[in-house]
Amino acid sequence: MLTFWLTAAAWTFGSILYAELVRDLYHVSAHVWQPLSRLHNWHHRVFRPTLTPVNETIYREAHWYNDVPEASVMLVFTLLLWAIAFVATPSVHGFAAFGSLYTLGFLGAAIARGAGIPGADTLTDLTHRPGPFEAPPSRWSVNRTYHWRHHFDNQNAYFCGTFTVVDKLMGTALSLKGKTIAVTGASGTLGRSLLTQLQQSGAKVIALTSGDRPVVIDRDGQPQEINTQTWKVGEESNLQALFETVDILILNHGINVHGDRSADAISRSYEINTFSTWRLMELFLTTVRSNRDIACKEIWVNTSEAEVNPAFSPLYELSKRTLGDLVTLRRLDAPCVVRKLILGPFKSNLNPIGVMSADWVAEQIVKQARSDARNIIVTVNPLTFIAFPIKEFLVGLYFKLFSRRADDLANLNESKPEIS
Ligand SMILES: [Zn+2]
Ligand SMILES: [Zn+2]
Repeated sequence: MLTFWLTAAAWTFGSILYAELVRDLYHVSAHVWQPLSRLHNWHHRVFRPTLTPVNETIYREAHWYNDVPEASVMLVFTLLLWAIAFVATPSVHGFAAFGSLYTLGFLGAAIARGAGIPGADTLTDLTHRPGPFEAPPSRWSVNRTYHWRHHFDNQNAYFCGTFTVVDKLMGTALSLKGKTIAVTGASGTLGRSLLTQLQQSGAKVIALTSGDRPVVIDRDGQPQEINTQTWKVGEESNLQALFETVDILILNHGINVHGDRSADAISRSYEINTFSTWRLMELFLTTVRSNRDIACKEIWVNTSEAEVNPAFSPLYELSKRTLGDLVTLRRLDAPCVVRKLILGPFKSNLNPIGVMSADWVAEQIVKQARSDARNIIVTVNPLTFIAFPIKEFLVGLYFKLFSRRADDLANLNESKPEIS
């Protein structure tokens, strides 16, 4: 009996997932294969960046040329799957029909939109509704913000229609092409490796450093000078104008006082590792205003593996853990995507015995970011892969339960009479 229901559930959910997989692969093919792209182009012609249709006629035409064929292909493939179920597991084959039933819903909706039935667009075309974005691109399902990027950030990425699995697997869940990316700690070993990797991915990079010399990276064996901006801890607000123009801010600077436990070492560790990073993060968040900002701006914070493992440097651990917790707390309400970089020891001037090379670490960071990992873990320590996600989930849950949104709090204070 249990086997029956397990097989039934597997066919039900499997056939629906399969339908979505067919949809996404159809979409990918429509961007590379001429006969399909001629039909799919109609879909890209319809919308303005505000997601309002250019005109009613093109909106309706686009459904006959794109959405109806797409749903028809999904229907054919889900019917084939049903046929396979009929042969393989005859007693439960009916459950494999859910994929076709699910697809029929989309086919019906596409026909309704093509026919111009009033209300069909508002009820069924959920990823193309105009209006302000309420949330950053979501992780596992496609929301409006996620899909907007396919139309207006990069049409060769963000292909998914409902679930984001195909983009994650293909590394098209984040496009770095043409993005302006600023990296702090840019004169360090990892900073330079990141600049190189990001530039190779098509990004325009800016080096942020406290040093007074321009940052130079190695480009195919040739030294290349990078656009370098100088900043100082405590003078973060000077970067406001620059941040308005930056898409992705990577906070990667830090110090390691190793065994020093003096008052000065405590002060420097927290000031540089924790508070200057936090101030830059808050400053950057104030530049996220428009729909485009919500969709494309991001912050990546290098909080390090020290969040869950000993770094054999107490003040490094303490200051990085506090930073990690502040990021966990603030990203509950962040208007854009905030990623953490959880990195194990890599070889650098500060750490000559590190096992991993900084170039390899930077390559893995970019690869995981393209798969939309919100917590990017690069380490040789297997414990981190278990300990970090558990810790992050529990701390995030605790913070969510025992704190309130900053704007909710502002409204609450407004409604209360002032106490003098
Ligand atoms: Zn679209
Ligand atoms: Zn497309």
